[in-house]
Amino acid sequence: MARIVIIGASTGGLPAAYEIKEVLGADHEVTVISNYENFHFIPSNPWVAVGWRTRKDISFPVRPYLEKKGIRFLAEAAQTIDPIKNEVTTIAGTIVPYDYLVIATGPKLAFEDVEGLGPNGNTASVCTVDHAEKTYEEYKKFVENPGPIIVGAAQGASCFGPAYEFSFILDSDLRNKGIRNKVPMTFITPEPYIGHMGLAGVGDSKSLLEHELRQRHISWHTNAKIKKVEKEKMTIEVLGEGEKEIPFKLSMIIPSFKGVDAVAKVEGLCNPKGFVIVDEFQRSPKYNNIYSVGVCIAIAPIEATPVPTGVPKTGYMIESMVTATAHNIKAAIEGAPAHAKATWNAICLADMGDNGIAFVAMPQIPPRNVTWAKKGKWVHLAKVAFEKYFIRKMKKGVSEPFYEKLILNTISIKKLEDESKRQ
Ligand SMILES: Cc1cc2nc3c(=O)[nH]c(=O)nc-3n(C[C@H](O)[C@H](O)[C@H](O)COP(=O)(O)OP(=O)(O)OC[C@H]3O[C@@H](n4cnc5c(N)ncnc54)[C@H](O)[C@@H]3O)c2cc1C
Repeated sequence: MARIVIIGASTGGLPAAYEIKEVLGADHEVTVISNYENFHFIPSNPWVAVGWRTRKDISFPVRPYLEKKGIRFLAEAAQTIDPIKNEVTTIAGTIVPYDYLVIATGPKLAFEDVEGLGPNGNTASVCTVDHAEKTYEEYKKFVENPGPIIVGAAQGASCFGPAYEFSFILDSDLRNKGIRNKVPMTFITPEPYIGHMGLAGVGDSKSLLEHELRQRHISWHTNAKIKKVEKEKMTIEVLGEGEKEIPFKLSMIIPSFKGVDAVAKVEGLCNPKGFVIVDEFQRSPKYNNIYSVGVCIAIAPIEATPVPTGVPKTGYMIESMVTATAHNIKAAIEGAPAHAKATWNAICLADMGDNGIAFVAMPQIPPRNVTWAKKGKWVHLAKVAFEKYFIRKMKKGVSEPFYEKLILNTISIKKLEDESKRQ
């Protein structure tokens, strides 16, 4: 019997637990270690921050669903990993031995990189459901007494989708409330141009997103680095333009990501930012029984940008990393060579409140076979369907891939390829 331990129970860790259990069967033991009792559907956080969703709508306790599938659950943060003894020790001192370890711990939010950034400083966040709830409290006060808004991402950020989404969602909500005319909005980003998204653009994402920002009267600064954030005042440095001070009443900034401490401190496991180095089979080259999936893995930037940006790691890629990991662990147990590889494709649905833009980059790193971006109300509807489907799937404990089934069928991969050839 092999013991498989997964750290993290979110978009990467929870499907990994189900899929590994399904692929390996009852003869092997699967344990999930998580610092939260609950699963939170992170892509819906921007909706929580404007009151379109509550924590209850997007969260559920994972224990009963995991245990129903015969998966052990330990709600204690992992504090140390000993890759020599093959043990994880939790913050409560529980020692969990493993034969195979899957790290799915997501990001550490590096607010500390910029003075005054983050929910303990002067800007809001939607990165966790706790942050999104706090942002909603601030937003309710803001609505009573509106003023300028700044939304964007800090230097070194890799997750740009939620920043664009949140500006468009705020714009929609403020229009619905009839107070948009009282709110000057600015988008700031380290991206070299609007729509770069850490991916060197996807299709005509530059024109599409610039058009959308213009259409909604949101001005922007690209190549921007945040120097400091004081109460209601942000100082940025824009490449070639120098320093600017921008006043705000409400600001939401996505920070740069790093690896979480418990993982980052394991010798030889991570890059300098604390992201787990993996080979094409999701395995650590140094510790062959350690695998990693999701935002916590190291991916080199697609290109050097004048102000640093990173590569996003999104749901579709994570789904395929999970499948590859499950099959490679099975192969390792059976003494066979690793063979399953994740597809390095990016499919993103950016919600705009009343509308949306879908981006497809296959492969994620250019030059690509398919590069496609389209706007439509169907994207907003697909995003709502995605939320409902993913939560239902995680409660049922099935590992069927969402993107393959719903998105790719909806958009039709064949149509994409044909259209790409024509462009
Ligand atoms: C606001 C936001 C919106 C996004 N929207 C989309 C979207 O619409 N579509 C898309 O494809 N992608 C989206 N992403 C990107 C990505 O898909 C998500 O971030 C996704 O949740 C990443 O999954 P993950 O499991 O890798 O990391 P996470 O979801 O961050 O999960 C990591 C888990 O590990 C736990 N953990 C951390 N350290 C420990 C420890 N020491 N011990 C135990 N547990 C630990 C954390 O608490 C967390 O539950 C979004 C990201 C953000 C931040």
